[in-house]
Amino acid sequence: MSQTAQTVREDGIIASVSGPVVTARDLDARMNDVVYVGDEGLMGEVIEIEGDITTIQVYEETSGIGPGEPVENTGEPLTVDLGPGLLDTIYDGVQRPLDVLEDKMGSPYLDRGVDAPGIELDETWEFEPEVAEGDVVEPGDVVGVVEETVTIDHKVMVPPDSEGGEVVAVESGEFTVEETVVELDSGEEIRMRQEWPVREARPTVEKKTPRTPLVSGQRILDGLFPIAKGGTAAIPGPFGSGKTVTQHQLAKYADADIIVYVGCGERGNEMTEVIDDFPELEDPSTGNPLMARTSLIANTSNMPVAARESCVYTGITIAEFYRDMGYDVALMADSTSRWAEAMREISSRLEEMPGEEGYPAYLAARLSQFYERAGYFQNINGTEGSVSAIGAVSPPGGDFSEPVTQNTLRIVKTFWALDADLAERRHFPSINWNESYSLYREQLDPWFQEEVSEDWPEVRQWAVDVLDEETELQEIVQLVGKDALPEDQQLTLEVARYLREAYLQQNAFHPVDTYCPPEKTYLTLTTIKTFNDEAFDALDAGVPIEEVIDVDAAPQINRIGVQEDYEEFIEDLKSDLTEELRSLY
Ligand code: ADP
Repeated sequence: MSQTAQTVREDGIIASVSGPVVTARDLDARMNDVVYVGDEGLMGEVIEIEGDITTIQVYEETSGIGPGEPVENTGEPLTVDLGPGLLDTIYDGVQRPLDVLEDKMGSPYLDRGVDAPGIELDETWEFEPEVAEGDVVEPGDVVGVVEETVTIDHKVMVPPDSEGGEVVAVESGEFTVEETVVELDSGEEIRMRQEWPVREARPTVEKKTPRTPLVSGQRILDGLFPIAKGGTAAIPGPFGSGKTVTQHQLAKYADADIIVYVGCGERGNEMTEVIDDFPELEDPSTGNPLMARTSLIANTSNMPVAARESCVYTGITIAEFYRDMGYDVALMADSTSRWAEAMREISSRLEEMPGEEGYPAYLAARLSQFYERAGYFQNINGTEGSVSAIGAVSPPGGDFSEPVTQNTLRIVKTFWALDADLAERRHFPSINWNESYSLYREQLDPWFQEEVSEDWPEVRQWAVDVLDEETELQEIVQLVGKDALPEDQQLTLEVARYLREAYLQQNAFHPVDTYCPPEKTYLTLTTIKTFNDEAFDALDAGVPIEEVIDVDAAPQINRIGVQEDYEEFIEDLKSDLTEELRSLY
């Protein structure tokens, strides 16, 4: 954040303090202005104005401040600093870098009244121009590039609110983010640092229908419940259900250029885990640290409630900035329930009329405003880029009927239902295939047909049908036992078992199985289908079920996941299955 003392306008004084909510008298302010509250200058934001009384949500712990102390208005909305240096950094919810805070305060959590720019102001970057004198540039245009990290080239863009014009001066060389890199004939100076109000989406030309999957390398996701680049997904995570592992897998393997991870007020130690874990993770596609393409926003629950409210906006604004450069960005918010709880707390302090379970009536609107900012876009500079938003939800007691889950499900188009029972049975990833869904399936089919195989949709539908049938048969099995079923249904159960064990399950900790390319996902399924088709033929020819399911090659199906040279393995396995089963009759 970058409000400075020079822009201060008319002062007011504190009238009352109620937790994170402070009222001020005589403050000349507009909605969403950023203000500094009290002698310590705590950062806050105007959220209500009624006559002479201005209500402010304060982003820091308010104990010890009281009526009569000054309130200064910056006259500016809450903004983020955008520019090189966003990646490989860990921020709090109002974009203060945690390492800087730590240096200043000796602890990342005792952070009252400390302000720090969102990006390093002293650091220099090697600027490589992409325009020359005489070129005409418009808002959004790329004027040059700096190597932000080993993985990512940062495109320096004309700010969206610029007039544009003809380039009259441009130079390559080392610059700080505040030095001018390009001068226009209008006198405007372009710098690497931009500011943007967090509550406002950065402009684009057009939101397009997303048609490319965000490939995750997780069979159940890519194969059954895919999310598009620019899509939205929710993932509820009861404790111990594998939420952290799933999020890490997505951060590591999803084919996004940039990851923005918003850790929003989970229990203190969980967030510390993220802060400790992420810098250790390696980007499998480059071998570089994952942080080289990641911006991490970390708000633990011991950070003040209002900062939790703002952190998702900070995150999505950073995501949009990289989208503008033409990148595919995946934003993960963990957890949106804590964010909603922050809204509820502020709302109750404001004595607003509560809606369902005490959440404010505008809960649904806020959630949809957030997910609305995801999408596949044509940017104002002509490039295409995307923001995919994946929100974790933590329904108390795993009860999906509560308001945050329900309102989220109305908005998002993909739902990955993590299931504590599956986790208990060590079925990982513990995504429940009966409850999960993706509304992107059909629109992504052409991509999978083109890139993987023409019959991708049919093979998937076959698997879905078998799994559905298994669910129904299981109910009967519970009553009468498996042996009472007719032979063809027993065989269906056997096929479904392979689907669960070889296809749906995937070991995140196995060096090969951890990532499964779409091609392998498809071939795994066709191997099981080969077994299915040949086994049913054998059964029809009168071979007893025991012999059919007992063929030597069948258990090899469960070995596909760990095969590095899977193509040859699968080819051999298919012919073994076929041969053995045909030899039975
Ligand atoms: P949560 O964050 O929901 O509390 P975790 O993500 O920490 O749960 O997962 C709990 C445990 O489950 C992990 O320590 C790991 O042993 C196991 N687990 C979860 N997902 C997988 C997976 N995809 N592959 C293998 N093991 C997993």
